[in-house]
Amino acid sequence: MPRPILATIHTAALQHNLARARLAAPDAKAWAVVKANAYGHGIERVYQGLRSADGFALLDLDEAQRVRALGWRGPVLLLEGVFEARDLELCSRLDLWHTVHCEEQIDMLAAHKTNGGHRVFLKMNSGMNRLGFTPQCYRSAWTRLNALPQVDEISLMTHFSDADGARGVGQQLQVFEQFTRDLPGERSLSNSAATLRHSGDNPVDPAQRVVSDWIRPGIALYGSAPDFPAHSSAQWDLQPGITLASKIIATQAIDTGASVGYGSAFLAERPTLVGVVACGYADGYPRICPTGTPVLVAGHRTRTLGRVSMDMLAVDLTALSEAGVPVGFGSEVTLWGRAANGEVLAIDEVAQAAGTLGYELMCGLAARVPMVTN
Ligand SMILES: *Cc1c(COP(=O)(O)O)cnc(C)c1O
Repeated sequence: MPRPILATIHTAALQHNLARARLAAPDAKAWAVVKANAYGHGIERVYQGLRSADGFALLDLDEAQRVRALGWRGPVLLLEGVFEARDLELCSRLDLWHTVHCEEQIDMLAAHKTNGGHRVFLKMNSGMNRLGFTPQCYRSAWTRLNALPQVDEISLMTHFSDADGARGVGQQLQVFEQFTRDLPGERSLSNSAATLRHSGDNPVDPAQRVVSDWIRPGIALYGSAPDFPAHSSAQWDLQPGITLASKIIATQAIDTGASVGYGSAFLAERPTLVGVVACGYADGYPRICPTGTPVLVAGHRTRTLGRVSMDMLAVDLTALSEAGVPVGFGSEVTLWGRAANGEVLAIDEVAQAAGTLGYELMCGLAARVPMVTN
């Protein structure tokens, strides 16, 4: 028997979440962002759930090849463009659309020998100061690209730094619109947060309404709320794309004053029934999660106790047992996602306890955790 830990990817939930993102921007086409191996889920495992997207956006060329190997003939976008000149050969061969965010990438294109013209997404740095041409240089980059025989079509893109927060997108949106007003081409601006918060008929701030041709949702597809805790995944009607589940492999009935785990970080204030779960930080469960981090046992909410160790963590079974819920050796434990009884523990709640985001938990699942799709 392998250890009982298992990650399950929910195809129907991915489909639902993509439809939910589309609902926020019904006139836009949707890139399904599957970078970082589909946020840790596995590109091959999410493909079925996300194939109704209009295209797949990612950044490793190896991942682009995997998407093509799955039989996807539609658009594929490299979000960071090419890293060296020979990457353009792969773009030509596999018909990959690519971001152009710096002069060096235009130089490479100008020197590239190709028969087919390339579709490029010209990126503006509208204020995030990571990738892209400054607003002042944007038009000359567009003009230079437009003059290249290697380039077929130019789309315009930018990325928001604060779509999930109080600052919002207003400032960057205004810059982008001002400096692209009379340029032709499709527009792509919104990640999950901008799609859910700043599009559609009911934006968080009507003065910051984003309209574009292509949305770029990532995290929302996998069921995490991009602006938690302002909104929960349930409030956005997102379903968990992944469940991390394991089982109780031992129980300990301890007396008042007894401790649990390394460093005796938890001291029982009353007689306590402790469940020991086959999941630890070597599986990708954050070690930093303190006593009290939410967890589901047999689909009922309870809390972790003491420090997370490499292969195990402890949970409090006392109240469940007292309430007559049958819990003990072999009980189902849901670290995040959906339990067998339908109860959901949002990954965002566990991420919050760890002082991080759902993104990091998804991407941090360890290779030793077996994954299946349902
Ligand atoms: C990762 C990424 C996205 C998706 O962001 P989410 O917050 O996961 O929706 C969109 N656009 C670009 C350029 C990205 O790098």
